[in-house]
Amino acid sequence: MLCVFFRSSRGKRFPQDRVFRFDGLGYRVMMNVSEDLIARGQRVMLGNYNPAPLVIARGQGCVVWDVEGREFLDLTAGVAVLSLGHAHPRLVRAVSEQVGKLSHVSNLFYNEAAIRLSERLVDAIGLPRVFFSNSGTEANEALLKLARHWHHLRGAPERVGFVCTDGAFHGRTFGSLSVTGQGKYHQGMGPLLGPIRRVQYNDLDAMERAITEDTAAVILEPIQGEGGIHVAAPGYLRGVRELCDRAGVLLLFDEVQTCFGRTGRFMAREWDEVWPDACSLAKGMGGGFPVGAIAVSARVADGLPPGSHASTFGGNPLACAASLAVLDVIRDQRLVTHAEECGRWFLERARPLIDGERLVDVRGRGLMLGLELGPGLDVGRCLNELRERGVLLTRAGSSVLRFVPPLVVTREQLGVGLDTTMEVLHGM
Ligand SMILES: *Cc1c(COP(=O)(O)O)cnc(C)c1O
Repeated sequence: MLCVFFRSSRGKRFPQDRVFRFDGLGYRVMMNVSEDLIARGQRVMLGNYNPAPLVIARGQGCVVWDVEGREFLDLTAGVAVLSLGHAHPRLVRAVSEQVGKLSHVSNLFYNEAAIRLSERLVDAIGLPRVFFSNSGTEANEALLKLARHWHHLRGAPERVGFVCTDGAFHGRTFGSLSVTGQGKYHQGMGPLLGPIRRVQYNDLDAMERAITEDTAAVILEPIQGEGGIHVAAPGYLRGVRELCDRAGVLLLFDEVQTCFGRTGRFMAREWDEVWPDACSLAKGMGGGFPVGAIAVSARVADGLPPGSHASTFGGNPLACAASLAVLDVIRDQRLVTHAEECGRWFLERARPLIDGERLVDVRGRGLMLGLELGPGLDVGRCLNELRERGVLLTRAGSSVLRFVPPLVVTREQLGVGLDTTMEVLHGM
């Protein structure tokens, strides 16, 4: 009898996942662990985000568990960051070993991990020089500064302007924010960097008109990510390249989201066989470790001479060891080809589901995929219902469900994501 009571008291009367707190009036309130953590977070964290009410505790591959032990299929990969999924053993080993050996030296000295990663990136990307940052926006800042400074060194100091595209997303620091083509991010943040001209993505005539004597560079994403998964139309990137060459303007590709095999090519520019003068990369590059970079052509590599730009953390051996491990696994597990095949499979499966009402378009390349919902459907509600069913997705633009899973995702997992999405859409 006693024994039965003991067991039930452990299981029911004092469950492990309940937390007691006192509210403002001194009443004892019971919350589950998530509610408690979220309430604490909301009390002390700046309100600039609006996260889903889910506290993730651990992950393995494409699966995560929250603090209550609930399981979710993670097709967000931390917004296209976790190339190898959660807790990949080779990434864990590489970072653990490096942190025990040497984590930071600053740019006062060389370190072998940064040199090795530079060599590997030069090989993989095909541009001869790299610079390391810690994030995407910082990489883009480096691109913008490189462009202005390169013209400055060539006796064209009037070339300070940038041309960017509607729907573009380049980051949140002032330079990259200024070339971001989404007005909502500019609200109340002005004055921004100038002069900047913004043109419709995929419109070559508008691009031609926007490039003038004061233009330093054109910056664009080969596939717009945050803006809604918009793929460059055939011939567009080549056309922009020609316009830039004719006008003596640099072409900068923001490959922060598309880099490291995400689109089924190591870099998305390979789809169009067009070379930028320099490109930025970040998200998938560290497999979850914060790291970014720019890769630069020989022609403009002298744009940032000693002293012109820097980053304290950039190129630290810890981040570089992480990125080297990501490169090794991408090569050994043929993840670029895998991403391409998965993308083709997904598009073939999803396109027939377009009904012009709930699902109006399906697009993307490799594992950067978007399902555009009909105008009447609420993407936020759809994401909530998917989460209730154990699938994590994110949005892109105002009406697109974004699939950017780890590159190690299986077709089965992608299929679960798509089937669950269709179930949710048909219930709406
Ligand atoms: C995410 C993103 C950025 C910004 O990267 P952060 O690391 O958040 O600064 C820039 N450009 C593109 C294309 C992105 O997707």
